[in-house]
Amino acid sequence: MGLKLFNTLSRSVQEFEPLDPDGKKVGMYCCGPTVYDFAHIGNWRTFVFADLVRRYLEFKGHAVMHVMNITDIEDKIIKGVRESKTPLREFTGKYEAAFLEDLKTLNCREPHQKPRATEHIPEIIALIEKLIQRGVAYKAADGSVYFSIEKYRGCGCNYGQLLKLNFDEMRAGERVKSDEYAKESIADFALWKARVPEDGDIFWPSPFGEGRPGWHIECSAMSMKILGASFDLHLGGEDLIFPHHEDEIAQSEGATGKPFVKYWLHGAHLLVEGKKMSKSLGNFFTLRDLLAKGFTGREIRFLLLSAHYRETFNFTLEGLIGAKTALTRIDECVGKLREIGVQVSIGSSQETFKPELQPHGQFSSALDADLCISAAWAVVFDWIREMNKRIAENYLTAQDAAIALMSWDKIDSVLGIGAKSAAEVPAEILALAEARSAAKKAKDFKRADAIRDELKAKSWVIEDTPKGSKLKKI
Ligand SMILES: [Zn+2]
Repeated sequence: MGLKLFNTLSRSVQEFEPLDPDGKKVGMYCCGPTVYDFAHIGNWRTFVFADLVRRYLEFKGHAVMHVMNITDIEDKIIKGVRESKTPLREFTGKYEAAFLEDLKTLNCREPHQKPRATEHIPEIIALIEKLIQRGVAYKAADGSVYFSIEKYRGCGCNYGQLLKLNFDEMRAGERVKSDEYAKESIADFALWKARVPEDGDIFWPSPFGEGRPGWHIECSAMSMKILGASFDLHLGGEDLIFPHHEDEIAQSEGATGKPFVKYWLHGAHLLVEGKKMSKSLGNFFTLRDLLAKGFTGREIRFLLLSAHYRETFNFTLEGLIGAKTALTRIDECVGKLREIGVQVSIGSSQETFKPELQPHGQFSSALDADLCISAAWAVVFDWIREMNKRIAENYLTAQDAAIALMSWDKIDSVLGIGAKSAAEVPAEILALAEARSAAKKAKDFKRADAIRDELKAKSWVIEDTPKGSKLKKI
């Protein structure tokens, strides 16, 4: 069965068919962090969601090119540079490094490319020049360059592809900045912001004059540079739909005349303790705040992955405690399977498919339906119940345990929660166990017993069962 995803562009669940004629390569762009502070748990929901999409596409055999930009030039960054009296690169570098560290803590696969806006100024300028040439952007009296939505629509282009917009009211609620007084229409947005005294020494020369790029244009310039004028997937939080993503579409399609992105995926908001996160309510958490409370990245990842990406999710500390319990159940079961199946080489047994032992097919069917994660977790926990039952009743063979573990590894390549096992066997112990088996086979019982004693001295016992030997930690 093929993967189906909810495409914000069509407002419907659609079959996922990559642009690549072979159906293998997938270009995926996710709007990255603005590096002026530590990312909060709401941001992390989006990045864990992007990681799930990427891992699942890889599970299904796609060759994914995952791009995530780093916004390292923006109003809040300039303010931070001014207030901290730190050079731009040093200021943003600190938060960028923290972001990448947090990404690792949550076991997210690192994007293949992480372009920085400040390292793509020539590409951004070239894109703006193209938009001016095409008559959909103009230089205003204040030296800034704006995108004209009216002229863009006048060319027959559609602004408001992701969201049905009321053009009379559009952006009326947005604060009109004093440095944007020169634009022709309130709906227009800045592509290039002319240098102002508050910018200090943060500016770049350009054909339009000294200044810096707007936020929206960097995503168009960098995504198209790496993934081409048209690509498969664009992800982000739903708060980015308007204006950021609408503006990305307008800039990109306005410049190339080609459809920009085939599938737009948006993750829903996160509430914390039932309310919108805010510093004054005391429910504003960065990942680091939660780690300081004693929770682990693994528990946080598990909780963030427990709800469907299009549902508003209520993140609570109680939920994190529940995550710990659920993970312990997984760890205990997988640990026991490892104990039982540890010495079996699976080889030939791969030929027999045992669905009750190998739930990855069912797991995949659940995720194929627009990443229905609750159904996928149900498959996992049903399987754990079944495995525990078989283990308790002592009728799970070493071979079956090994088969079950292989299936779990496939599932966990998507979930990325890992499984700690109390009975993780060190290579040295495994080597001794193998040497003992060889000695027994050669009827060298003296040596076999000596190895058994050596293992015991290292706190491992070896038990001979009709199905082979089992290692156990004392
Ligand atoms: Zn973006």
